[in-house]
Amino acid sequence: MSLKPERRGIHVDQSELLCKDGCGYYGNPAWQGCCSKCWRERTRRQQQKNQKDHPQAIGGRNDGTSPTSYIFSKFEEKKSSEKARRANTVRKLFGSSKQQSKPENVAVHLSSVPSTQQSRSSDFSEFLKSLRKPSSQLIQNRCLSFIESLQGRRDLTVEQQSDHVQDFYQSMATHFTDFTGYPSDRSDKMMDNIEKMIMTQLYKSVFCPDTSDDEQKDLLIQKRIRMLHWVTAEMLRTPLCEEQSEVNDNILSAITAIIEMDSKRAPQDKLSCISRCSNYIFKAIQVSRSSPATADDFLSSLIYVVLKANPPRLQSNIQYITRFCHPNRLMMGQAGYCFTNLCCAVTFIEKLDAPALNLTHEEFDQYMRGQRAPVRRIPPFLLQEGCPGLKQMQKNQELLTELHARQDKILMEAKRFEKELNEWTMSISSQVEEIIAKFPLTSSVSKM
Ligand SMILES: [Zn+2]
Repeated sequence: MSLKPERRGIHVDQSELLCKDGCGYYGNPAWQGCCSKCWRERTRRQQQKNQKDHPQAIGGRNDGTSPTSYIFSKFEEKKSSEKARRANTVRKLFGSSKQQSKPENVAVHLSSVPSTQQSRSSDFSEFLKSLRKPSSQLIQNRCLSFIESLQGRRDLTVEQQSDHVQDFYQSMATHFTDFTGYPSDRSDKMMDNIEKMIMTQLYKSVFCPDTSDDEQKDLLIQKRIRMLHWVTAEMLRTPLCEEQSEVNDNILSAITAIIEMDSKRAPQDKLSCISRCSNYIFKAIQVSRSSPATADDFLSSLIYVVLKANPPRLQSNIQYITRFCHPNRLMMGQAGYCFTNLCCAVTFIEKLDAPALNLTHEEFDQYMRGQRAPVRRIPPFLLQEGCPGLKQMQKNQELLTELHARQDKILMEAKRFEKELNEWTMSISSQVEEIIAKFPLTSSVSKM
């Protein structure tokens, strides 16, 4: 993913959000820009190649006898035609790679997806009830025995655990489409519920496990965000107009939503938090300038919200969703779009530098060292409410700004003075050298 800070401000081509293998789904930096299916296909091919090259080294789970790998390839064949169809729809939504995405695209795309959080949770309790029926016994048994078997395997790395879970999703999806003959929307719903049931149980053992470096990554990004606390919405070139109370409220709600992500267990519930956060951001942008948000507006505002929120265990949550979410959710739709943008935002925050914020390198360093602070205006709607403390703060801030300006002036004067002094010293010494050259000391000594 190439971020282009030299363009001043934040810009990512919509085509760069899509899978590098060109299937039309969303890609993810965790899979080197591929979507989860293409990525798994790549690693599978690599594993098969390794096995051919070293037949006796049967490592990992793909020893060729796994029934799920057979089911998977069958599943892939069956899905490929549908995949192409869906890929076209996604392309239509975002335009071809050469076209700039039009502002309406994002808005249309997002508003066409109903926010189904409530209906989904009632779905889940219905699902749990339905599992008690004898006809659902098979599903329940398969899920329970899978949870048990995975919890029993302490030797697995988190990537292997992820592979097992993804294989399980695939075999269940195949079961619904091939054997029970469910239409795809019903099968998708079932898969949502199965994901939720399994991952709620497995959460403790697979979220941010000791065997991974997720925790270190969490600490790194947390520290990085803390160091960037001074970044303003203006520096990021967001259209957000924080002086308006409605915009401010929406930003606060977006911050709350993204922080809430850490408290959810199922990947889809975490994704819902990201989608909710994104919806508030879209509202904030819309109110700010009464026109639909462009993709760049959205990304820059999302970066701003992430910087303000510093969400707990951000990397762990992203990794967990990437590893254990049902792939369909990540590869398309609103949730997929928002998640891909969140991953982009994190990558951007890691690389954030002076040109991206429209600052000089000197200014950027001063901000990072805490020698400079941005001027933050207190929104007029807060001042109108007549809180004396806020008015005092406003006055203090104005005073501070003035002091800063005076300090800068003094520093500049001092530097100029230093320069003049240096020049003066140099001119004196060169004059002295000149005189010495004209009247060498040796000749005067010898005359005496
Ligand atoms: Zn792909």
